[in-house]
Amino acid sequence: MTILANKTDPVRAGSGTWQDQMKWAIRDLRGLRDALGLADQGVSQLAAEAEFPVFVPLPYLARINPGELGDPLLRQVWPSGQEMESPGHFSTDPLGESDATTSSGMLQKYQGRVLLVTTGACAIHCRYCFRRHFPYEQSPKSMAQWEPTLAKIAADDSIDEVILSGGDPLTIVDHSLKNLISRIDEIAHVKRVRFHTRLPIMIPQRVTDAFLGILASARSQMIVVIHANHANELDFSVEQSLLKIANSGAILLNQSVLLRGVNDCSEALEELSERLLSCRVIPYYLHQLDPVAGAAHFEVDIEKGRQLIAELRSRLPGYAVPRYVQELRGEPNKTVLA
Ligand code: SF4
Repeated sequence: MTILANKTDPVRAGSGTWQDQMKWAIRDLRGLRDALGLADQGVSQLAAEAEFPVFVPLPYLARINPGELGDPLLRQVWPSGQEMESPGHFSTDPLGESDATTSSGMLQKYQGRVLLVTTGACAIHCRYCFRRHFPYEQSPKSMAQWEPTLAKIAADDSIDEVILSGGDPLTIVDHSLKNLISRIDEIAHVKRVRFHTRLPIMIPQRVTDAFLGILASARSQMIVVIHANHANELDFSVEQSLLKIANSGAILLNQSVLLRGVNDCSEALEELSERLLSCRVIPYYLHQLDPVAGAAHFEVDIEKGRQLIAELRSRLPGYAVPRYVQELRGEPNKTVLA
């Protein structure tokens, strides 16, 4: 059943549990068009939707201006017919992650850090996602299935950081998350656990007392890396949730992607940095777009990106300027562009 969002009912966007909000999310193009009063754009848009379905939770929807196709938040979730035109260097595995898979559900690209693909589920479908074609069905689905991978981490004392990614690890319910963190915490040489998540932004209700308890009680240093691309994503309810995470003792960082039509001007990036700081989040990375098939229309020229960072440096303190980086397949670290 398609659930149509009601733009005139902000109460619904701010109510319910995070699981309710996952259930109430808009899951098709027709629902998104109806909710925002937008016109049908024809068969190529339907083909884009068929390639990667729409998923937009109501709290995020409520931050989009109805009827504005150029809205920077809408651009991130709006299927475009342009997704069907991919230049040759855009691929389904832009970072070579199939080569970096070392155990079931585990990727190792960099020295000392491993990444666990904890789930394929997300609280939003970002059209530029570099894992939009990822074979999630091959990742473990239960604690029992994670055990061989955890044994590998325990046997390798060069690993001092475990990154929980996906999908979005915060789509996992708190008691399962607690079990996973507890098992990782038992491995003495792991010093840090890092979450890569958009959920506190998409559905602020996800920052539950139970999740905050997990962050506060873990032995390892907890690091929460959120993903916001535009200041409009960070409304009052998101700010409240982020402040709770900061108060738990976790380190709070943001990574963004430089996206054409979303944040490719210095004013938008400056406003994002200022807003992040007011939520006690350090602007950490600005990523050059990964060349994933279907996302070429978001690409910004690297020289323009460097120019934007130079403009930010002239206006903001150093800690408010993200490092502009690019991930290149097979490289031992990210390449700093500016
Ligand atoms: S939340 Fe992250 S993993 Fe999920 S679709 Fe967006 S970019 Fe991809």
